[in-house]
Amino acid sequence: MARRLPIGARLVLASHNPGKLTEIAELLAAPDGTQHIDLVSAGSLGLPEPAETAPDFAGNARIKAEAAARASGLPALADDSGFSLAALGGAPGVYSARWAGPGKDFAAAMAEVNRRLGDNPDRRAWFTSALSLAWPDGETATFLGRIEGHAVWPPRGAHGFGYDPMFVPLGETETFGEMTPARKHAASHRARAFAALLAAVFSV
Ligand code: IMP
Repeated sequence: MARRLPIGARLVLASHNPGKLTEIAELLAAPDGTQHIDLVSAGSLGLPEPAETAPDFAGNARIKAEAAARASGLPALADDSGFSLAALGGAPGVYSARWAGPGKDFAAAMAEVNRRLGDNPDRRAWFTSALSLAWPDGETATFLGRIEGHAVWPPRGAHGFGYDPMFVPLGETETFGEMTPARKHAASHRARAFAALLAAVFSV
Protein backbone atom coordinates (compact mmCIF):
# COMPACT_ATOMS: atom_id res chain seq x y z
CA MET A 1 0.00 0.00 0.00
CA ALA A 2 1.25 3.49 -0.87
CA ARG A 3 2.40 5.73 1.97
CA ARG A 4 -0.29 8.27 2.87
CA LEU A 5 -0.07 12.06 2.92
CA PRO A 6 -1.48 13.69 6.05
CA ILE A 7 -4.07 16.46 5.74
CA GLY A 8 -2.36 19.84 5.43
CA ALA A 9 0.92 18.33 4.14
CA ARG A 10 3.15 20.51 1.99
CA LEU A 11 3.58 19.02 -1.47
CA VAL A 12 5.85 20.28 -4.25
CA LEU A 13 4.39 20.19 -7.74
CA ALA A 14 7.29 19.35 -10.06
CA SER A 15 6.22 21.77 -12.77
CA HIS A 16 7.27 25.24 -13.77
CA ASN A 17 3.93 25.91 -15.45
CA PRO A 18 1.67 28.16 -13.29
CA GLY A 19 -1.43 26.99 -15.23
CA LYS A 20 -0.72 23.43 -14.16
CA LEU A 21 -0.50 24.42 -10.47
CA THR A 22 -4.04 25.82 -10.56
CA GLU A 23 -5.44 22.83 -12.47
CA ILE A 24 -3.75 20.27 -10.24
CA ALA A 25 -4.76 22.10 -7.04
CA GLU A 26 -8.37 21.77 -8.26
CA LEU A 27 -7.94 18.06 -9.02
CA LEU A 28 -6.48 17.47 -5.53
CA ALA A 29 -9.36 19.24 -3.77
CA ALA A 30 -12.20 17.27 -2.16
CA PRO A 31 -15.50 17.21 -4.12
CA ASP A 32 -16.79 20.08 -1.93
CA GLY A 33 -13.72 22.16 -2.89
CA THR A 34 -11.88 21.75 0.45
CA GLN A 35 -8.13 21.77 -0.07
CA HIS A 36 -6.28 19.11 1.96
CA ILE A 37 -2.74 19.94 0.97
CA ASP A 38 -0.45 22.93 0.66
CA LEU A 39 0.72 22.78 -2.98
CA VAL A 40 3.83 24.78 -3.97
CA SER A 41 5.45 24.74 -7.40
CA ALA A 42 9.01 23.66 -8.14
CA GLY A 43 9.35 26.90 -10.09
CA SER A 44 8.54 29.06 -7.06
CA LEU A 45 11.16 27.14 -5.01
CA GLY A 46 13.77 27.68 -7.76
CA LEU A 47 14.27 23.93 -8.30
CA PRO A 48 15.99 22.82 -11.52
CA GLU A 49 13.97 21.08 -14.28
CA PRO A 50 15.42 17.65 -15.11
CA ALA A 51 15.50 16.35 -18.71
CA GLU A 52 12.59 14.02 -19.55
CA THR A 53 14.66 11.17 -20.91
CA ALA A 54 12.49 8.11 -20.13
CA PRO A 55 10.79 6.16 -22.96
CA ASP A 56 7.39 6.17 -21.24
CA PHE A 57 5.05 8.48 -19.31
CA ALA A 58 5.53 6.77 -15.94
CA GLY A 59 9.32 7.02 -16.27
CA ASN A 60 9.23 10.75 -17.03
CA ALA A 61 6.77 11.50 -14.21
CA ARG A 62 9.08 9.60 -11.86
CA ILE A 63 12.23 11.47 -13.00
CA LYS A 64 10.51 14.83 -12.35
CA ALA A 65 8.98 13.85 -8.99
CA GLU A 66 12.17 12.27 -7.63
CA ALA A 67 14.34 15.24 -8.68
CA ALA A 68 11.97 17.69 -6.95
CA ALA A 69 11.71 15.57 -3.77
CA ARG A 70 15.49 15.23 -3.54
CA ALA A 71 16.13 18.93 -4.16
CA SER A 72 13.41 20.21 -1.79
CA GLY A 73 13.39 17.62 1.00
CA LEU A 74 9.57 17.51 0.64
CA PRO A 75 7.19 15.03 -0.99
CA ALA A 76 6.77 15.94 -4.66
CA LEU A 77 4.18 15.22 -7.32
CA ALA A 78 4.81 15.20 -11.08
CA ASP A 79 2.65 14.38 -14.08
CA ASP A 80 3.43 13.40 -17.63
CA SER A 81 0.87 12.85 -20.33
CA GLY A 82 0.34 12.54 -24.04
CA PHE A 83 -1.55 11.30 -27.07
CA SER A 84 -0.98 7.94 -28.79
CA LEU A 85 -2.12 6.30 -32.02
CA ALA A 86 -2.17 2.52 -32.44
CA ALA A 87 -1.27 2.81 -36.13
CA LEU A 88 1.81 4.89 -35.25
CA GLY A 89 3.10 2.43 -32.62
CA GLY A 90 2.02 4.74 -29.78
CA ALA A 91 3.47 7.98 -31.26
CA PRO A 92 3.56 10.86 -30.58
CA GLY A 93 3.43 9.48 -27.00
CA VAL A 94 6.09 11.02 -24.77
CA TYR A 95 6.92 13.37 -27.68
CA SER A 96 3.37 14.86 -27.76
CA ALA A 97 4.45 18.32 -26.60
CA ARG A 98 7.64 18.22 -28.70
CA TRP A 99 5.72 17.52 -31.96
CA ALA A 100 4.17 20.97 -31.55
CA GLY A 101 7.63 22.61 -31.59
CA PRO A 102 8.84 25.58 -29.54
CA GLY A 103 5.87 27.66 -30.78
CA LYS A 104 3.44 25.07 -29.31
CA ASP A 105 1.70 24.79 -32.67
CA PHE A 106 -0.83 21.99 -32.09
CA ALA A 107 -2.58 22.61 -35.42
CA ALA A 108 0.74 21.57 -37.01
CA ALA A 109 1.19 18.64 -34.59
CA MET A 110 -2.32 17.33 -35.40
CA ALA A 111 -1.65 17.75 -39.14
CA GLU A 112 1.54 15.69 -38.70
CA VAL A 113 -0.44 12.92 -36.95
CA ASN A 114 -2.94 12.96 -39.83
CA ARG A 115 -0.18 12.93 -42.47
CA ARG A 116 1.49 9.90 -40.85
CA LEU A 117 -1.84 8.07 -40.52
CA GLY A 118 -2.45 8.56 -44.24
CA ASP A 119 -5.25 6.24 -45.34
CA ASN A 120 -4.61 3.65 -42.60
CA PRO A 121 -8.08 2.52 -41.48
CA ASP A 122 -6.83 1.87 -37.91
CA ARG A 123 -7.81 5.10 -36.09
CA ARG A 124 -7.54 3.78 -32.51
CA ALA A 125 -6.12 6.46 -30.20
CA TRP A 126 -5.75 7.13 -26.49
CA PHE A 127 -4.53 9.68 -23.97
CA THR A 128 -2.38 8.61 -21.01
CA SER A 129 -1.65 10.46 -17.78
CA ALA A 130 1.03 9.30 -15.34
CA LEU A 131 1.33 10.75 -11.85
CA SER A 132 4.28 10.10 -9.58
CA LEU A 133 4.47 10.94 -5.90
CA ALA A 134 8.05 10.81 -4.61
CA TRP A 135 9.28 11.07 -1.03
CA PRO A 136 12.65 12.58 -0.07
CA ASP A 137 13.84 9.18 1.22
CA GLY A 138 13.51 7.62 -2.27
CA GLU A 139 10.10 5.91 -2.07
CA THR A 140 7.92 6.61 -5.14
CA ALA A 141 4.37 5.62 -6.10
CA THR A 142 3.11 6.01 -9.68
CA PHE A 143 -0.51 6.00 -10.92
CA LEU A 144 -1.75 5.75 -14.52
CA GLY A 145 -4.98 6.87 -16.15
CA ARG A 146 -5.94 6.19 -19.75
CA ILE A 147 -8.88 7.00 -22.02
CA GLU A 148 -9.44 5.11 -25.27
CA GLY A 149 -11.10 6.36 -28.41
CA HIS A 150 -10.32 7.18 -32.03
CA ALA A 151 -8.76 9.94 -34.08
CA VAL A 152 -10.83 12.07 -36.49
CA TRP A 153 -9.90 14.46 -39.27
CA PRO A 154 -10.41 17.39 -39.64
CA PRO A 155 -10.10 18.58 -36.00
CA ARG A 156 -13.34 19.81 -34.40
CA GLY A 157 -14.10 22.15 -31.49
CA ALA A 158 -12.51 25.08 -29.71
CA HIS A 159 -12.40 23.79 -26.11
CA GLY A 160 -9.46 22.12 -24.42
CA PHE A 161 -5.88 22.14 -25.66
CA GLY A 162 -3.29 20.06 -27.47
CA TYR A 163 -4.74 17.16 -29.46
CA ASP A 164 -8.29 17.51 -28.01
CA PRO A 165 -9.94 18.51 -31.33
CA MET A 166 -8.93 15.28 -33.08
CA PHE A 167 -9.90 12.79 -30.33
CA VAL A 168 -13.33 11.16 -29.83
CA PRO A 169 -13.59 8.95 -26.70
CA LEU A 170 -15.20 5.50 -26.99
CA GLY A 171 -19.00 5.70 -26.84
CA GLU A 172 -19.07 9.44 -27.71
CA THR A 173 -19.61 11.36 -30.94
CA GLU A 174 -18.06 14.69 -29.94
CA THR A 175 -14.32 15.37 -29.78
CA PHE A 176 -12.71 16.48 -26.51
CA GLY A 177 -12.48 19.87 -28.23
CA GLU A 178 -16.26 20.03 -28.67
CA MET A 179 -17.17 18.87 -25.15
CA THR A 180 -17.57 21.26 -22.25
CA PRO A 181 -14.53 21.11 -19.95
CA ALA A 182 -16.72 19.52 -17.25
CA ARG A 183 -17.67 16.63 -19.54
CA LYS A 184 -14.11 16.08 -20.65
CA HIS A 185 -12.83 16.13 -17.06
CA ALA A 186 -15.47 13.66 -15.88
CA ALA A 187 -13.78 10.84 -17.79
CA SER A 188 -10.36 12.05 -18.88
CA HIS A 189 -7.07 10.20 -18.48
CA ARG A 190 -5.98 12.87 -15.98
CA ALA A 191 -9.15 12.51 -13.89
CA ARG A 192 -8.63 8.74 -13.78
CA ALA A 193 -4.99 9.03 -12.69
CA PHE A 194 -5.95 11.56 -9.98
CA ALA A 195 -8.76 9.33 -8.74
CA ALA A 196 -6.24 6.50 -8.30
CA LEU A 197 -3.76 8.81 -6.53
CA LEU A 198 -6.40 10.29 -4.21
CA ALA A 199 -7.73 6.88 -3.24
CA ALA A 200 -4.24 5.57 -2.50
CA VAL A 201 -2.39 8.35 -0.71
CA PHE A 202 -4.79 10.73 1.00
CA SER A 203 -5.84 10.10 4.57
CA VAL A 204 -9.34 11.46 4.05
P1 IMP B 1 3.29 17.33 -20.56
O1 IMP B 1 2.83 18.66 -20.09
O2 IMP B 1 4.75 17.14 -20.65
O3 IMP B 1 2.59 16.22 -19.81
O4 IMP B 1 2.85 17.24 -22.09
C1 IMP B 1 1.69 16.67 -22.44
C2 IMP B 1 1.35 16.95 -23.90
O5 IMP B 1 0.47 15.89 -24.31
C3 IMP B 1 0.56 18.23 -24.07
O6 IMP B 1 1.36 19.28 -24.51
C4 IMP B 1 -0.45 17.83 -25.13
O7 IMP B 1 0.13 17.94 -26.38
C5 IMP B 1 -0.69 16.36 -24.91
N1 IMP B 1 -1.83 16.15 -24.02
C6 IMP B 1 -1.80 15.65 -22.75
N2 IMP B 1 -3.03 15.63 -22.21
C7 IMP B 1 -3.86 16.14 -23.14
C8 IMP B 1 -5.25 16.39 -23.17
O8 IMP B 1 -6.01 16.17 -22.20
N3 IMP B 1 -5.72 16.92 -24.31
C9 IMP B 1 -4.96 17.19 -25.38
N4 IMP B 1 -3.66 17.00 -25.41
C10 IMP B 1 -3.09 16.47 -24.30
